Amino acid sequence: MSDIKLAAAPPGVEGSGFFATTLDKAIGLARANSLWPLPFATSCCGIEFMATMGATYDLARFGAERPSFSPRQADMLLVMGTIAKKMAPVLKQVYIQMAEPRWVIAVGACASSGGIFDTYSVLQGIDEVIPVDVYVPGCPPRPEAILDGVMRLQEIVKNESLSRRNSPEYKALLEQYGIDTHG
Ligand code: SF4
Repeated sequence: MSDIKLAAAPPGVEGSGFFATTLDKAIGLARANSLWPLPFATSCCGIEFMATMGATYDLARFGAERPSFSPRQADMLLVMGTIAKKMAPVLKQVYIQMAEPRWVIAVGACASSGGIFDTYSVLQGIDEVIPVDVYVPGCPPRPEAILDGVMRLQEIVKNESLSRRNSPEYKALLEQYGIDTHG
């Protein structure tokens, strides 16, 4: 018996020789199982991500083994570590350079809330400068927690409507962050 598990088909109607689903579901399935991560790692949480990429935890099992250090070729921004206020505009620039659709995971306490660094120089959570889809708790989160965050994001991606990125709600969200939606 093989242990290989295939991704489950999206909900649809099937019968002898045919399977019908919606375009949203088919594209969501493809996107969710081929996320390209951009590791924005500034401190210790980044080390946990390195372990997550390694053989034991093997992020490749989720189709996300291809890290990109160019924002243009990534759709899953993983922010891992303490983000100093001076670094915040750089993070925002990286986010803006990513093509749509793009998703963000705040990995660990520092990225999510500033962590233990409640101080004048540290951003108290990256959601002060960019929208976040998933928060992973922990200081640091273990690789299992990072994998859990990726799996939660996969669920979001699978269920995202194709029209969301053009919706007035999404544009309003980006405008709240001062991100131009017309360019
Ligand atoms: S959350 Fe903890 S482990 Fe992660 S970067 Fe901050 S201090 Fe380091």
